[in-house]
Amino acid sequence: MVIDLCYLIYYFQLQSIGVILLSGCAGILSADFSSGLLHWAADTWVIIVKCNLLKNHQKHFLFLFKQGSVDLPVIGKNFIRPFREHHIDPTAITRHDFIETNGDNFMVIILPLGVMASRFSTCSNDQIAHSYAWYWYLFLFSVFVCVTNQIHKWSHMYTGLPKWVQCLQDCHIILPRKHHRKHHVSPHETFFCITTGWLNRPLEIVKFWKILEYLIESATGQKPRADDFKWAEKRN
Ligand SMILES: [Zn+2]
Ligand SMILES: [Zn+2]
Repeated sequence: MVIDLCYLIYYFQLQSIGVILLSGCAGILSADFSSGLLHWAADTWVIIVKCNLLKNHQKHFLFLFKQGSVDLPVIGKNFIRPFREHHIDPTAITRHDFIETNGDNFMVIILPLGVMASRFSTCSNDQIAHSYAWYWYLFLFSVFVCVTNQIHKWSHMYTGLPKWVQCLQDCHIILPRKHHRKHHVSPHETFFCITTGWLNRPLEIVKFWKILEYLIESATGQKPRADDFKWAEKRN
């Protein structure tokens, strides 16, 4: 991240400030949308892909949508369970250390930022100038993906927050505490974006999640969040 930032500063030209701001904003919005989409998927369904072998040795893939159970192999424990437990004990995240909170997200961005750093060191000046706005998009997208869980953790902390974090929350540069509380009202069916939360209201206005859930329910017959009640009962 630091190497990429140094390169971005090194190749900065004032005349391209407009396009940099635009692609940077698009990167942050994309990170916010990705956080919402993954969070929604973990809270609402999981796509299970079943591969059946047909008689003529052709493979047939079956896509099943249903609310993912925490008992599913690998993703159940690592992906679905943290989101579902978070609804029952929202402050548990505030007791996680830096690695537990952010380790997974930091790992995800190693590859794109690594590729970007290698491009900076091997490509010609013309090639870099041509892709410069795209690099800003990718950089800010990755940085915001990286800090998503940290921002989410801060949105649940009511004591001990540094002043600068509170200031970022108050200016709605990162997810504000009051804003995120809307997601924590049962049945947890809205305000899924947890990076900046900028897209929560627009997506709510166009009923994005409701329409998506309606389309999936019509196509598969599966009800969104069908496993929630069972899960909450099991925990009590
Ligand atoms: Zn949730
Ligand atoms: Zn939360």
